Parts: sequence; structure tokens; C-alpha cells
Amino acid sequence: MTDVAPINLLNYDREALETFFVEQFGGKTFRARQFMKWFYHDHQSDVQQMTNLPQTMRDWLAANTSFDLPEVVSREASKDGTIKWVVRVTGGSCVETVMIPERGRNTLCVSSQVGCMLDCSFCSTGKQGFNGNLSTAEIIGQVLIANSDLAQRGTAVTNVVLMGMGEPLLNFDAILPAVKLMMDDLAFGLSKRRVTVSTAGVVPGIYKLAEHTDVSLAISLHAPFDELRNELVPINRKYPIAELLAACHEYLSGMGEKRSITIEYTLLADVNDSEEHALALAELLRGLRCKINLIPFNPFPASGYARPSSTRVHNFQTLLLQAGYATMMRTTRGDDINAACGQLVGKVQDRTKRQERYLARVGA
Ligand code: SAH
Repeated sequence: MTDVAPINLLNYDREALETFFVEQFGGKTFRARQFMKWFYHDHQSDVQQMTNLPQTMRDWLAANTSFDLPEVVSREASKDGTIKWVVRVTGGSCVETVMIPERGRNTLCVSSQVGCMLDCSFCSTGKQGFNGNLSTAEIIGQVLIANSDLAQRGTAVTNVVLMGMGEPLLNFDAILPAVKLMMDDLAFGLSKRRVTVSTAGVVPGIYKLAEHTDVSLAISLHAPFDELRNELVPINRKYPIAELLAACHEYLSGMGEKRSITIEYTLLADVNDSEEHALALAELLRGLRCKINLIPFNPFPASGYARPSSTRVHNFQTLLLQAGYATMMRTTRGDDINAACGQLVGKVQDRTKRQERYLARVGA
């Protein structure tokens, strides 16, 4: 045994595993792929049972590596089938993961950070403050936890959205290997259309993402005007709408005609839900291959916002449909267990001066 902390192999995507196996054992990269098949396809986490690896390799792996998952603190199931797990991550804070069963799909909403530093005005995660990044293993671990739960009912996660707690593009180095594993045939094997990174608008992160992967992208837009968006999504002060949309065009430019971006728009009563907003949004998005996802606001205590009436929500959707946009209404799921969008709070020990850090970041 060694005193050094074991290497958590869940932090490595295929490329990193290949490098690791070659550096550690010499020889060829195929050992890493054999390992991946055992772990991700056969769900074998006892390296001694990975019988096509040489015994010396198995002994070394057993002594020096681990597959550490976050600890499940609680699991709640909603009346509508939604399941929410609270998991404890390094440092003792907790984050939330939500599985939403819908029309034959099992969509897993995964957290990428402990809290969030962006402080969007209508999101309760932001109100919790920020306490750090999740590791790749902690992100992938959420998928493994959900899959082992679903396996008992003979199903599995079919779609993953990085729409839980945190801003994925501010934890780029950890989310990239995680989404690569989600899309890797030797790991979770989900298609690129079924894995989505959602961002509040970290523009440099979008360009960087395009250099490394063609995962699906969602943009939390929420307003067609900079002045309003500055208020709702403060990172807009640093990366205004025009720059954000330019990055979206660029992201799609290297991809097939059939790919599109998801535009998320949370409807807030009397804030961004008028006919004027709908028409301006339709105008703004002209020429961008996109689908619009409307999310009626999910209330939380002292938010200061309200959900618009269903007539108003419906009118907003109709205007966008008439303008030619595929526009979906995201129905509220799991709200009886506080698992709806913007209701994920986990248990964050805020050790940062969030506001100060944030203002320094946007240069305000
Ligand atoms: N930081 C990333 C990932 C979070 S995704 C992003 O901003 O895209 C969570 C989605 O739910 C975002 O579109 C977010 O703006 C939206 N949301 C946050 N709070 C909400 C609330 N209270 N009601 C409805 N949608 C909300």
C-alpha cells in the first residue's frame, strides 16, 4: 500500500486514460480501452475481476486507484416520476442531480459547480453563493449514481443536460472530459444531440468548447435587450447579447445543417413576458438555427418575481411559433420536491465574497 491518495480514474476521459496507461505500464493504448469496457459497459469496479488485464497491472491498479463517487445524502421521488438526489462532494457541500422521465426519455440534469458565482437575479442557486468546482469524477459520478438507480427498473439515463447547479463553462477543465465520457462509445455512448451544455453566456467558453467538442449547446438568454439582460443575467455586462449571438453562430458554423442551439427563456411576470419582448426576441434570433425553450418562472422564497399567467405564457409562445420558431414550453416537473429549474440549492458553504469576486470578473 502507499500513503499517496489513490488516483480516481473517473476523472479521466478516454484520451487521459490512454496516456495514463501508457505512462504507467508502457505498451499500447488498448489496455485503457479494455479497462473502459469493463468499467463503463460491464459495470465492473473490482479491478481484480478485469480478467484480460495482466495480473501485475490489476495489482497495481487495485493498490493505487479508485472509482470514488460522491456520497448520496438523500433521494426523493416526485409524484410525476422526477427523482432528485442530493450528493455530498469534496469539501462537504452538497449539490443536486435531477432525473426527469419524459416521453420515453430519462433526462438527467447534472450540477457542475457547488453553487454559482453568476448571481442571475431569478435563480436560487446564485443566492447560495459559490464554493468551488466539481471534479470530472463528481460530474460523471452523478450519471453513474442515476444509472445504478434506474438499472433496478431496467432503464438508464438517455439524455444529460448540464443545467443543474453552477455555470459549466466556468468549470471548463472538468466538464470537458465529463461530456466527452458521456458521448464516448466506450463509456456512456450518448449521441451529441443528447448531451447539452447550458451557459448563461460565458462567451470565451463557447469558442473554447467549439475547439474541443461538438456537444449540444443551450443559451440562457432570458431577455432580448441588453439593459434588461444586464439586470437578469449580470454576466451580460461583460459579454453583451451581440457578442453572445456571434459566438452561437460561430459554434454552429462547423457543424451540420441539422444542428441547432437551444435558447432558454425564463418567463417572469411583467419583466420579460410582453408581446414587445416576444417580437424583439423573434427579430434578434433571425438567422440563427435554434429552438426556443420557454420556462415559466419557478418561484422560491423572497425571489421578488412571479410566474406569468398561463394566458400570457401561451401568448408569448404563440408569437414565437408564428414567427417560425420551434418553441417548447418546459413544463414544471418535480416542483413538489423542489427539483424544478432554478430551485436547486444543495447545501453550499459559501466561503467566497461572491459579489466582490463577481464584480472583479465582469470588470464593474
Ligand atoms: N448556469 C447555466 C446552467 C444552469 S441551467 C445556465 O445559466 O445556463 C438552469 C436554467 O434554469 C437556466 O436557463 C436558468 O436561467 C433557469 N432558471 C434559473 N432559475 C430559474 C427559476 N427560478 N425558474 C425558471 N428557470 C430558472
